[in-house]
Amino acid sequence: MPNRRKFLSVFSATLAGTLFLNACGNPPEKGGGADGGTASAPVADAGLETKTITLGYVPIVEAASLVVGVEKGFFAKHGLEVKLAKQASWPAARDNVVIGSAGGGIDGGQWQLPMPHLITEGIITNGNKVPMYVLAQLISQGNGIAVSNSLKKANLRVDLTPAAPTILGFPKTEGRKFRAAHTYPNANQDLWIRYWLGAGGIDPDKDIELLTVPSTETLQGMRNGTMEAFSTGDPWPFRIVKDDIGYLAALTAEMWPVHPEEFLAVRADWVDKHPKAAVALLKGLMESQQWADKAENKTALAQMLSSRAYFNTPAAVLEPALKAEYKLGADLKPSNDPKLGPLYWNSDRGVISYPYKSLSLWFLVESLRWKFHPGKLDTIDQAKALVDKVNREDLWRQAATELGLPAGDIPKGSSRGKETFFDGIVFDPENPQAYLDSLKIKR
Ligand code: CA
Repeated sequence: MPNRRKFLSVFSATLAGTLFLNACGNPPEKGGGADGGTASAPVADAGLETKTITLGYVPIVEAASLVVGVEKGFFAKHGLEVKLAKQASWPAARDNVVIGSAGGGIDGGQWQLPMPHLITEGIITNGNKVPMYVLAQLISQGNGIAVSNSLKKANLRVDLTPAAPTILGFPKTEGRKFRAAHTYPNANQDLWIRYWLGAGGIDPDKDIELLTVPSTETLQGMRNGTMEAFSTGDPWPFRIVKDDIGYLAALTAEMWPVHPEEFLAVRADWVDKHPKAAVALLKGLMESQQWADKAENKTALAQMLSSRAYFNTPAAVLEPALKAEYKLGADLKPSNDPKLGPLYWNSDRGVISYPYKSLSLWFLVESLRWKFHPGKLDTIDQAKALVDKVNREDLWRQAATELGLPAGDIPKGSSRGKETFFDGIVFDPENPQAYLDSLKIKR
């Protein structure tokens, strides 16, 4: 398919033997202790259909609660040994879930949306339909858009309107279009940067060049001027600021407070065959999310994630990101509002973990906005049917009930209600067409 996006590097390995390569070219690393030792707690006998599951993750703050579950023994407590497999990239995760753990791949793991929905329909897997279930939300917020120091003067912020002339003027001043990047097309980070640009009056398909770049290459890319803006999860935007390569123009938390970010999704055949184990997985995850969410645990969490076995990133970089100690804008204005940082459990909109159908629907409606999958995903009715098939709120509720969560923490319906963006645009899940109609820039 002809596409304006360019892939700066080839990372869609397709041979099973190379799928698990991580950034260093090493084999998959299992969850280990901070010293790189073997996985911790003994697995309880909970009478589950299976005692193991292999989950993929990408080393960004979104994966934190999966690591916590292994390291603090929350999964083992509920009878499940979770094997964590670091994924070199989103395409690797996608290819590995198609293979499944039986073939050396993964049963599920951490996902940007709407990847599980698209994989279910074979839309991003060459027609190969692998039904998946979204079981929980892993995180809200914790993502951002970093901008190169070469644009310090223009001070790009969440409202891009004042800086739009600089961006639109690039062909005249630089002899080329402004370049922006994300880590994987047609999912979260692509959608965040498109929303930001569109709200500022910039058409992401026409006025600029939008590239796909693996997050491991972003520091270098921004340093050498490959791109001016980059949309990704922490610690990358944070690191760009720390290394004085760029500044944080916008936090996704500023664009859409308590927005849906990344999710736990597992192959439907695994869940259907192991329903008790799926509920156990959710119970372990919920306890992990509660632990990761607590302010007093952030330092220990940064230590845990920083280990070579997991993120292999200094705790000094991770800790401020987890604590929401940001410096915003070209003037690096300190912001220490925990409400703008990564949220794992509590929020002003209720429990983060619940896999609301209304929130997943937004990602598919946004896919319609940009006409990402013509002939495959064209209508709101299709989008709704797909969410109904993939999102398993019932399993989440069962796990929450068995865990004894207070009733107030267990949402009663499938909708979180209306969602309001920073530019005043409203997404009403009851009327997605009105949302689409209200957007000025779309396909
Ligand atoms: Ca993300």
